[in-house]
Amino acid sequence: MTGIVMEAHGPGRGPVTPHGLVQCLHRPLGGLLEFATDADEMIRAAVLLDDGGLTEEAYDLAAEYAMPLSALSGTETWLPTWTTMHSEQIRSEVFAGMIGTRNQDDYVRSRTFLIEHPAGSREEIGELVSGSRIRVLGKGYVDVPDGQLHRRKDGSAWWWACPDCRWPMAVTGTKVRCRYRPHAAVFRIATDADRRPPALRRIDEGPRADVPDAREAGGSVCLDHGVWRFIVVPGASELRICRELRDLGADVWLWPERDAYDLRVVAGGREFRVDLKEYRSPHRLVADLRAKPPRARVLLPRTHQHQVDVIKSSLPGLDIVTETRFRSEVRRALKGRA
Ligand SMILES: [Zn+2]
Repeated sequence: MTGIVMEAHGPGRGPVTPHGLVQCLHRPLGGLLEFATDADEMIRAAVLLDDGGLTEEAYDLAAEYAMPLSALSGTETWLPTWTTMHSEQIRSEVFAGMIGTRNQDDYVRSRTFLIEHPAGSREEIGELVSGSRIRVLGKGYVDVPDGQLHRRKDGSAWWWACPDCRWPMAVTGTKVRCRYRPHAAVFRIATDADRRPPALRRIDEGPRADVPDAREAGGSVCLDHGVWRFIVVPGASELRICRELRDLGADVWLWPERDAYDLRVVAGGREFRVDLKEYRSPHRLVADLRAKPPRARVLLPRTHQHQVDVIKSSLPGLDIVTETRFRSEVRRALKGRA
């Protein structure tokens, strides 16, 4: 890796040893990218290493910039598999390998199950799956990874579910928060007495959310990182918007035609088709939309509505709508004023 960075910088510039490179990764990445004049601002500001590990930003960026790298020899040995796959590849793998059905209703039911149960006790998840028409194969669930556990001296280990997506939050020292930054609640381990589960205290100023209870790591499982990032994270918004539109009185179908797009909405005789896009980097979203034009109107969920102007100015011909605006369109259609 140092060799690649040295070659990009040219003689006499940039880090010249692996140690020097590691030092650079503790500072904003822009310092290493002087030669790349078109680099995304979000990437320039990102710090990849902190407190002896990868930062949350690093996880985020790796997920968005995931691409098929396996053709490049050697990369697959040091990168986790989810960094080398497109989100679509992961979705189709889950479709084939975890859900394994060609029936649309079973597909929707099974995918909804994954989104609603990204973690829990192995027994509990097994019981919910058996005796239902949900088809989920076990291999997508893994032990809760070490970086998402709080280990005590007495040997016990604990995890907490994110209030937004219910996947185990990352534990860094005593700080606990979701790896997906828009799920913004931040906690600290407040009490950690022996023989009692450790307890969290909320430390950020965000909107109220229930403080999750600690769960024991023994017997617990969670979906692997790729399935969480590309199915559960967007799925939490997809299910929420679906629920809210149904509450308004619209008919909503999730992932129609085996995931051709995200939501088909029928309200007051009008049909809407939308594809949710929830990217941290609007530049990355624009690049992906250029490479593969969407099959439905692009919808920015409320956490990402602020990106609309940047995206419109890069892609003036794109049909794009914010969640707030879309809701009022559906409401108008329901009142028959569309
Ligand atoms: Zn989360």
